[in-house]
Amino acid sequence: MGPLVQGGQIEAVATGGMVRLTANGKPLGQAARLAIDPVRMGSGAWIRIASGQYRDRLVLTARGSGFDAVNELPLDDWLRGVLPAEIGDSPMEALKAQAVASRSEAVHKLERAPHAAEGYDFCSSTHCQVYKGMGVETPACNAAVEATRGQVLVVEAG
Ligand SMILES: [Zn+2]
Repeated sequence: MGPLVQGGQIEAVATGGMVRLTANGKPLGQAARLAIDPVRMGSGAWIRIASGQYRDRLVLTARGSGFDAVNELPLDDWLRGVLPAEIGDSPMEALKAQAVASRSEAVHKLERAPHAAEGYDFCSSTHCQVYKGMGVETPACNAAVEATRGQVLVVEAG
């Protein structure tokens, strides 16, 4: 599929094990699995789905009578949508501690792959960590993620 007009709306409907996309009433196509990539322009592009906004790639996969919507993005971009939901408005040192703790838990969970059977890494609930996407990001939480980039907690066996 080609590019859509900036600001255009895409409607996704599950039908017979397929995800069907339409834009302004015009059919775009259908498949069991579709990826939507916002075109990067200026400060970046994003996707709005339901009441949330999401960075990077959105993958829609037919499942049962509906479909899964999975946001594919780098770990630290995911963290930017986790911190506000997990700790919220807090002093910077608390935000940095949460960033390291959340990143550590995520790295640990990736090894156990709790949602491998469903085809994604993390769900967006407390089961993994609450993720609400770009729409809840705050400058303070983003700064905490940036200030702790690459930091994870490890326990040495022995
Ligand atoms: Zn989960």
